[in-house]
Amino acid sequence: MVWQPIKSRVQSELIKRGHCVACCKSLSEADRRPSAQNDHLEIVSCTCRRVYLYDKRLNHYRRALDEEVAANQNPTLQ
Ligand SMILES: [Zn+2]
Repeated sequence: MVWQPIKSRVQSELIKRGHCVACCKSLSEADRRPSAQNDHLEIVSCTCRRVYLYDKRLNHYRRALDEEVAANQNPTLQ
């Protein structure tokens, strides 16, 4: 079994409940737009600028990876 620091356990618990790990705001109020890669994914951007992915099929959130954030950046801003 891999030992997980308390902090990351709390963070994954927050995400599971649909809250931002940084500011604890509900992600249901965050900005969301469809992912360019996957129909069933939504990019959820919190007001604190953290980015999550919401999986509509699984009904769950997870932190977006750096490359996923980059791949989904608005092209007009690049
Ligand atoms: Zn936040």
